[in-house]
Amino acid sequence: MKKSLRIVSGVCNSVNPAGCFSNVRNWIEAEKKLPTIEGGPRSVLILGCSGGYGLGARIAVAFGAGSRTMGVSFERAPTVRKKASPGWYNNQVFDMAVAEAGLFSETLLGDAFSNETRKAVIKHVKKSGMGAFDLVIYSLASPMRIDPFTGETYHSTIKPTGEKLTGTTLDVATGRMTEVSFEPATDQEIASTVKVMGGEDWKLWIEALKGADMLAHNAKTIALSYIGPDATHAIYRSGTLGKAKEHLEATAAEINAIIAAEGGSAYVSVNRALVTRASVVIPIMSAYLCALNKVLKAKGLNENCHEQMSRLMRDRLYGADAVVATDEKGRIRMDDWEMRDDVQKETSDILRCLTPDNIEELTDWAGCSDELFGLFGFSPADRGL
Ligand code: NAD
Repeated sequence: MKKSLRIVSGVCNSVNPAGCFSNVRNWIEAEKKLPTIEGGPRSVLILGCSGGYGLGARIAVAFGAGSRTMGVSFERAPTVRKKASPGWYNNQVFDMAVAEAGLFSETLLGDAFSNETRKAVIKHVKKSGMGAFDLVIYSLASPMRIDPFTGETYHSTIKPTGEKLTGTTLDVATGRMTEVSFEPATDQEIASTVKVMGGEDWKLWIEALKGADMLAHNAKTIALSYIGPDATHAIYRSGTLGKAKEHLEATAAEINAIIAAEGGSAYVSVNRALVTRASVVIPIMSAYLCALNKVLKAKGLNENCHEQMSRLMRDRLYGADAVVATDEKGRIRMDDWEMRDDVQKETSDILRCLTPDNIEELTDWAGCSDELFGLFGFSPADRGL
C-alpha cells in the first residue's frame, strides 16, 4: 500500500475525486440496466444523500423511476488548500448525471438536524416547483446533534449497555486484529445516543413538511435500522446504537399516526451490514462484516448500498409486484439474505476459527478494505496493489 494513504477511525487522510466520480457513475449505470420502477415516487427527499444507503436510494429512485430528488447532506466543500469530503464529490457527479439525463435534482449542504435546514428545504421545494414529496428517506448517520430548540449538543457513543464487553476487532484498513474492551455506557451516554440517532429528528422533519403542505397524499417515509446476529448484539443491538434504533423504530408508529389520515405511511427498513463511513467505526462489527461478505459472495447474495435500496424500491415499496411485507414489529427486512440460517451458520463458523494469521484466507477482508478505500475514491491500483 502507498505509505501516504491512511484511514484512521474511518477517516482517510486524502480523497481522490476521480475515483468518487466513477463510483457514483458505476451505481448509476447499474441502475439504468434494470427495468423501470413502475409506480415509483415522483418527488423524493433524501436526508443523508451523499454516501452509503442515502446515495444508493437517491440513485435508485432518480434513475429507476425518473423521480425528482432533493438531497441534504453534511459535507465539506473544497477550499484553495484542501480537497472536499468524498460526499461532496459524490453529490457533484450525481447532479451532473441527473442533468445529462434530463432529470431534476437539487442538493443542499447543511445540518439536517437544524430548523434552518428544514426551512431551506421547504423554501427550495416551493421555488423549484418540484412538487410535494411522496417519499422521504431518512438516512442520516452522525456522531453528534445540536438540539434545534435548546442549542444543546449531544454526542453518540458506541458502547455496550449493562455489562463490560471484551472482544476482537479488525481494522478494515490494515487487517490488524486487536483485543478491545469497553465499559458499559452510562445512562447519560445512552440518552445522548438516542437523541442523536433515534427518531426525534425524523419526526420533526415529517411534522415540518406536513405543516408546510409539502407531503403529498399517500406519501411514504422510511428510516433505516440494523439488527444483526447474536455475535454483534453486545456492541450493536443491545448497545447504545441499538437503543437509538429501538427509539427510531418506535417513532415509525408515531409518524404513522401523524400522516395516516392523508394515506401516508412510515416504515423502518432493516438493512444489511455494509462498509460505509458510518459502519467502519463500529468495533467488533468489522470482523463480522468481513466474514459475512465472504459467505454472501460465495453464495451470490452480496449486495452494495445501491443494490439494497434498489431492491427495496422495486420489490417492497413500488413496482408491479411490490409487497410491503413486514416482520411482527412492522419492519421491512432488507437484511433477509444476511440473516438466512445458512449464511449465519457459516459466518459464525468463520468467526470461531479466526486468528490474525488466517484473516485473508477465511474472510473477505481484502474486499472490505477495497470498499473502504473506495469510499474515498481510491482503487486497489491507486494504492499500489
Ligand atoms: P454514511 O456515513 O454512508 O452516510 C451518512 C449520511 O448522513 C451522509 O450523507 C452524511 O453527509 C449525512 N449526514 C451526517 N450528519 C449529517 C447532518 N448533521 N446533516 C445532514 N447530513 C448529515 O452512513 P450509512 O451507513 O449509509 O448510514 C445511513 C443509515 O443507514 C443510518 O441510519 C445507519 O444506521 C443505517 N444502516 C447502516 C448500515 C451499515 O452497515 N452501513 C446497516 C443498516 C442500517
